[in-house]
Amino acid sequence: MNDTNWLKNFNDSQPLIIAGPCSAETEDQVLKTAHELKNSKVSVFRAGIWKPRTRPGGFEGVGEIGLKWLQKAKAETGLQMAVEVATAAHVKLALEHDIDVLWIGARTTVNPFAVQELAEALQNTDKIILVKNPVNPDLKLWMGGVERFSQANIKNLGVIHRGFSTYEKTKYRNNPEWQIAIDFKHKFPNLPMLIDPSHITGNREMIFQVTQEALDLNYDGMIIETHIDPDHAWSDAAQQVTPNRLKEIISELVIRKETD
Ligand code: PEP
Ligand code: MN
Repeated sequence: MNDTNWLKNFNDSQPLIIAGPCSAETEDQVLKTAHELKNSKVSVFRAGIWKPRTRPGGFEGVGEIGLKWLQKAKAETGLQMAVEVATAAHVKLALEHDIDVLWIGARTTVNPFAVQELAEALQNTDKIILVKNPVNPDLKLWMGGVERFSQANIKNLGVIHRGFSTYEKTKYRNNPEWQIAIDFKHKFPNLPMLIDPSHITGNREMIFQVTQEALDLNYDGMIIETHIDPDHAWSDAAQQVTPNRLKEIISELVIRKETD
């Protein structure tokens, strides 16, 4: 549980940056975005292939064909690839397509049966597994998710703080509830924690500020939704930034690394 070595495979002196669209939409969109992100500080390209929509009727992801686009993007750009997995069948396909990083979505972390199924499907894997916080503000459910993967002998673990649902109207799409993430860090001090400012804010304007707040709390990296044409994105249009805007954000972030 205390293994942070996987982070060192990336540029250790910088926060890890994962970026890419909320959803893979077309081959062209995936390849264009990935090419715009190569030769930047981005190390890992993200794209949702299976999308857990809150209500039916929306775009639910392109499915398996998207994994082929990601393989092509990886071969052409050298970026590592990340997708969300929610079932054992997703895991099997992602592994068959050589995906490097698998993340567990906030709607999956809430369900111990689903997490257990994923942990068993991933048993002993060397892949990087990132566990998003559950949608509801429940520290133990988040901890339990990570513990299930750890008990399945999965060593390259990390977590993503993506904020928490609330029925109250706030300026955030998902309330950060920073204290829950801080408490989580106290429980697992060596587990890398990334910020997901896209799903916390729900809008482009606050991405920089929330990411900076996380870096000031010594987070290890970020996952930021990035789209070549955000206004026309098939999911989460309001919160995605262009690759150029992402590069500006990255260059403006102040990294105050704790020295030991
Ligand atoms: C996503 O990353 O696009 C996503 C669906 O995230 P979350 O599980 O945080 O809602
Ligand atoms: Mn999204």
